[in-house]
Amino acid sequence: MRAGQVDVDVDSVVVGAGVVGLAVARALAMSGREVVLVEAGAGIGVGISSRNSEVIHAGIYYPGGSLKAQLCVEGKQRLYAFCEERGVRYQRLGKLIVASDDAQRLALQALLGQGRRNGVDDLQWLDADQARELEPALSCVAALWSPSTGIVDAHGLMLALQADAEARGASLAFQTPLLSARCIEQGFELHMGGAEPMTLSCRELINCAGLSAPQVASQIEGLSSQHVPVAHLCKGSYFSFSGRAPFRHLVYPAPESAGLGVHMTLDLGGQARFGPDVEWVDEVDYRVAPHRADVFYQAIRRYWPGLPDHSLQPAYSGIRPKISGPNDPAADFRISGPTEHGVPGLVNLFGIESPGLTSCLALAGHVLKQLA
Ligand SMILES: Cc1cc2nc3c(=O)[nH]c(=O)nc-3n(C[C@H](O)[C@H](O)[C@H](O)COP(=O)(O)OP(=O)(O)OC[C@H]3O[C@@H](n4cnc5c(N)ncnc54)[C@H](O)[C@@H]3O)c2cc1C
Repeated sequence: MRAGQVDVDVDSVVVGAGVVGLAVARALAMSGREVVLVEAGAGIGVGISSRNSEVIHAGIYYPGGSLKAQLCVEGKQRLYAFCEERGVRYQRLGKLIVASDDAQRLALQALLGQGRRNGVDDLQWLDADQARELEPALSCVAALWSPSTGIVDAHGLMLALQADAEARGASLAFQTPLLSARCIEQGFELHMGGAEPMTLSCRELINCAGLSAPQVASQIEGLSSQHVPVAHLCKGSYFSFSGRAPFRHLVYPAPESAGLGVHMTLDLGGQARFGPDVEWVDEVDYRVAPHRADVFYQAIRRYWPGLPDHSLQPAYSGIRPKISGPNDPAADFRISGPTEHGVPGLVNLFGIESPGLTSCLALAGHVLKQLA
């Protein structure tokens, strides 16, 4: 391959091999397009997709009519069906959202209404005794029971999406960062870095670069900067629990402003972990500061007073790719296609934070509609 010439010409290039880029590449390949997926890292899932709670969300929290509500509810159904069909490990564990006082009880009532408006029709209101029947260690004044919430093996999911995409002819190029792009007649010319820099041309360009999506979009010559949001980074740290898991279902407090509150999730091996918290940061640094445990003990003991001292260990962290800042209202997923920015064949996916994992298959379907 020689720099300065177009080395490869394809229908579609997807940037980023996280769960969203893989789902988009799969959907494009299944529609009969010739697809190349370019990834800066050495393999799939090196970004946010490997640093989350692995929860299949029901679709309760998001404002009515938002893309998050719509794509989460649709995505959940598609994801359960996909996991079943493709043998991806998952468990439909169910989750309790708990109120610790009367103010949170009101918040929970609002959440029940919101969830029902979003089409989550299996939610149940539990009083404190009913909640403790499900989880004897729990302390709460009331709870919402969401039976369709579950957990999934995120890496297994990505492997299955990759296998489908490759079976339909898609190619994956690792250690191949997109450096810049230029709109040309009927498509794009892309300049790729890596060990062997090369130039690609394509008709469609889909930017699924996660935390870097705004930066990637800003490198596209021909896309006005007014269509590129400012990136805000919001870190969430997790702590693992060394003992036997206190609950059999997922347990969440009433939600906070920028996250869903320090919740307890279980991995597929039944091990409990708590998190993520909310920390606005200026750079990507995944180290977990041990002192953050102090806030965790406080938050968790509101719903689990039995949490023993010294039982939490720093585990891992993820960073939410926010497009709204700490003092702004929460932003929706922003899937910016030709109707927004006027560049045919270009779709930028911005702000794909939670529930992006749950929504990946529905997000891919939405991207295809934008390209139609
Ligand atoms: C703390 C936390 C908890 C979460 N919990 C949940 C949950 O329980 N359930 C849920 O549904 N969602 C959850 N989410 C959200 C979910 O993890 C994300 O929405 C999803 O993983 C986003 O996937 P992605 O493919 O867009 O991004 P990523 O997985 O980050 O993939 C982007 C890829 O683009 C690559 N890239 C970047 N720049 C370039 C470039 N120039 N050229 C080529 N490649 C590039 C990166 O290397 C990366 O591999 C959570 C998120 C966080 C942060």
